[in-house]
Amino acid sequence: MDFETRAIHEGQEPDPATGAITTPIYLTSTYVQDAVGEHKGYDYSRVANPTRTALQQCLASLESAEHGAAFASGLGAVSTIMHLLTPGDRTVLIADVYGGVYRMTSQVYEPKGYVFDYLPAAEFDDLAVHLDERTRIVWIETPSNPLLNIVDIEKAAEAAHAAGALLVVDNTFATPYLQRPLELGADIVVHSTTKYLGGHSDVVGGFAATNDPTIAERLLFLQKSLGAVPSPLDCWLVLRGIKTLAIRMRQHCHNAHALSGFLDRHPRVEQTLYPGLPRHPGHAIAAKQMHDFGGMISFLAESEEEATAFVASTKIFKLAESLGGVESLIELPARMTHASTADAPFAAPRNLIRLSVGLESADDLLEDLEAAFAKVVGGTHSARSV
Ligand SMILES: *Cc1c(COP(=O)(O)O)cnc(C)c1O
Repeated sequence: MDFETRAIHEGQEPDPATGAITTPIYLTSTYVQDAVGEHKGYDYSRVANPTRTALQQCLASLESAEHGAAFASGLGAVSTIMHLLTPGDRTVLIADVYGGVYRMTSQVYEPKGYVFDYLPAAEFDDLAVHLDERTRIVWIETPSNPLLNIVDIEKAAEAAHAAGALLVVDNTFATPYLQRPLELGADIVVHSTTKYLGGHSDVVGGFAATNDPTIAERLLFLQKSLGAVPSPLDCWLVLRGIKTLAIRMRQHCHNAHALSGFLDRHPRVEQTLYPGLPRHPGHAIAAKQMHDFGGMISFLAESEEEATAFVASTKIFKLAESLGGVESLIELPARMTHASTADAPFAAPRNLIRLSVGLESADDLLEDLEAAFAKVVGGTHSARSV
């Protein structure tokens, strides 16, 4: 079955008890057993819950995975994957990794003796040179957050495997509708379902999937042992979001395409970072491994001052962290989502603005940006009112 059909039906048979077409929210902590150890596959909701099972089956299918595990947040999924490692193991991550992941690696795991090295996206062509026998995991985001860098997943998987390491791909920005890393050789795909998969800015969640039965068994063991599990209501919200993922992603891409062209031509914009632009250094690889280029755009304003004034000047684009919802958001990574990378060698540029392009009319969004430019440029100094 095609992606759109599986997004609506996979793991979601009508409720056998009532025929309810929508998967029930199983708000239960425990399950009655017929005799000791005789139950229907569920004994305690940290271990398993039918609403979570439906979500795991559906999302795994969309990522072309045999196995999936849902978590309480994207970082819950990440920290659980980190437990595949032991102190002394080395992980090589893309340098502009999500700020929360950097905070975790640098301030939680590194002090315990885990080793992390950060490689700029441009150096992934020579990934093999940067791997050694201690390297257990190569960790990439493509497109990356917030610089929209692109890494060739197939090549990264080859290099990682040649060194005896696993390739983990954070697929939050692309979603399985636009890109399926496991089909390209990745070992684990991870998501913040808070973003496009939920899609409505109303839930925090995470997910990991794999086709390796040994990794899957360990992840499910860690899921119940570490306990970063999502509530049944949260699972249901993500399940509902996924049903419209394909149609939403098509419109996110359409709107982002229109805005990226506008920004790329705008005299007040130093540089527009969007993999759909032919001059983007990752354009060709993105075109090869993605169905379209996604709904995230970053751009460099002329100065930090102008960037700060600009993000406070839009009306439809709301100033907020997060991304991937129906509503358009704007933010300043250096002082918001990526503030935890401020002291890192790859700190987000202070004049960088990140847009999560929503599903409003592209014309309205364009007008909103135009008006904000006019306001900021017209009154560079009155912009102090921000
Ligand atoms: C938001 C995000 C995360 C973390 O997910 P949470 O649900 O906020 O814990 C991880 N990776 C990327 C790329 C993200 O955008």
